[in-house]
Amino acid sequence: MNDSQVEKLIIIGSGPAGLTAAIYGARGNLNPLVIAGREAGGQLVLTTDVDDYPGFEAGIQGPQLMEKMRKQSERFATRFINEDVISVDLKKQPFGIKTETQTLKTAALIIATGASAMWLGLQSEQRLRGKGVSACAVCDGFFFKGKTVAVIGGGDTAMREANYLSKLCKQVTVIHRRDALRAQAALQELVKSKSNVNFIWDSTVEEVLGQDKVTGVKVKNTQTGEISQLEIDGLFIAIGHKPNTDFLKGQLELDKKGYVVVENETKTSIPGVFVAGDVADYKYRQAVTAAGAGCKASLDVEEYLEGIKLPTEGNGGRL
Ligand code: NAP
Repeated sequence: MNDSQVEKLIIIGSGPAGLTAAIYGARGNLNPLVIAGREAGGQLVLTTDVDDYPGFEAGIQGPQLMEKMRKQSERFATRFINEDVISVDLKKQPFGIKTETQTLKTAALIIATGASAMWLGLQSEQRLRGKGVSACAVCDGFFFKGKTVAVIGGGDTAMREANYLSKLCKQVTVIHRRDALRAQAALQELVKSKSNVNFIWDSTVEEVLGQDKVTGVKVKNTQTGEISQLEIDGLFIAIGHKPNTDFLKGQLELDKKGYVVVENETKTSIPGVFVAGDVADYKYRQAVTAAGAGCKASLDVEEYLEGIKLPTEGNGGRL
């Protein structure tokens, strides 16, 4: 592909948002080019059983679901580049996209780069991910039905996770590094009112215990230095998510946490640049909501491209 060619639609990201955008874009004759990233497939490739994505009555493995979405988008001739985006130039039309090996141009762009859960950074935590350590109660909580779990964090996410888990689990312990929560008052009250939720304050988790599955955590009291052990079956890390927007800094309006600011459904501060999925959504963060947003973004691109004057037609999906 030489630099003078202009794509109709480039999609950055290959999770549920990006791939659904690709399916709709391809069927809408936009011949989309997906820049999938080196670690294609988004957060779902890091999960095991997905039981809440409609259409799979027996559930499906996260990586398998992403493979199916990718194959479905390829059926409609979506093209893929398995590289990361290094930088973008959104200051003029067509937009410039620089990957590891190519510089591309596009009339419309969908950003669907997702967000990454933040982790404590413990070796034992990484070793037991998917074996009792999770960052998504809605995804994995069901596997701990009737069991004992802990949630780490004191923000809105931690309270939402604790609330969700309290309806499934026998006991939920929130471990927070300070003696006050930062979550909104209503969420705090809701969680504190649950009879099967208790709090361990001023404490950090030093190690996750267990060989092949989580059996407990080693907890340190930050005031006294005292170390204790808590027996649990599952550990939910809820210390925040980081949107994958570093490459957009200075190019597009981001909020103070780095999420893309959305003006209207999928539209950003720049006409022709659209957004879908967790990169702009701190609240729902579900595969199905991301997929829905990807669909909307592609339909919005179609409308946008109809409204601008295309330089030439009849060059494949390119302008
Ligand atoms: P957050 O507000 O940044 O809270 C992160 C929590 O994790 C804080 O309590 C923090 O402790 C703790 N933490 C951070 N790093 C830690 C570490 N290394 N070890 C132990 N604890 C650590 O993140 P969030 O809860 O994911 O929320 C992110 C944004 O999304 C917020 O603006 C929130 O309001 C929004 N949100 C809204 C909803 C909603 O329903 N409206 C739901 C989810 C999220 P400290 O308190 O000591 O800093």
